[in-house]
Amino acid sequence: MKYAIFGDIHANLEALTAVLSEAERLEVDKYICTGDIVGYNADPRECVKIIRDLQPEVIVRGNHDDYAGTDISLPGFNPQAANVVFWTRNQLSAEDRQWLRELPLNRTTGSSTTIVHATLDTPGRWGYVFDKFSATASFNYQFTPVCFFGHTHTPVVFDKFGSTKNGDFKEAIFEPGHKYMINAGSVGQPRDGDNRAAFVTYEPEKKKVSLHRVEYDIAIAQEKIRKSNLPERCAERLARGH
Ligand code: ZN
Repeated sequence: MKYAIFGDIHANLEALTAVLSEAERLEVDKYICTGDIVGYNADPRECVKIIRDLQPEVIVRGNHDDYAGTDISLPGFNPQAANVVFWTRNQLSAEDRQWLRELPLNRTTGSSTTIVHATLDTPGRWGYVFDKFSATASFNYQFTPVCFFGHTHTPVVFDKFGSTKNGDFKEAIFEPGHKYMINAGSVGQPRDGDNRAAFVTYEPEKKKVSLHRVEYDIAIAQEKIRKSNLPERCAERLARGH
């Protein structure tokens, strides 16, 4: 069994299609999505449709799915960020917005894998797991050997009982008795200085996770952002990968 695990797509259609064709080339059997399908980039409707048609085995709700799927006010948002949320809400059908807001915050598949967007200790408060210290609180609520998460847009493997593998890891083999939190990186807005789309494959029988980076047409994604009058910063950062 081989899973493709990916998230933080953020309405980047070019990155999403590049990742899915690479996953197909790698002959994955199933998909898992760690959330944040929308936000920042210019193709929320198309990305929601692709993910819904793909029918991942698990898909959890990210903070941007929450902002776009609900009518919650956006305290603490700067005006530009709030405008992206309003724009995204307008692009989506009522039915897509309902689907987004009803996604679960976390899920466990079988007995060995947990999926969450942000943290397991307070999943709806959208805290960040940036380092081993911040991973500790989440580990206390992880009852499976492996958890996949997103939100930081930075690939990493935290081992509760071992060393951390940062974003340049190619693969990680799980050791018995250990506990892992793995960030698959971001499909549509990488922030680790590498502008290629990121995702991981997971082979439970081999206890192996592999990180993949995929080039995509950044210029087209940027052009769509500018044509939609979304913030220039959203376009610029795609090229920087930060
Ligand atoms: Zn995100």
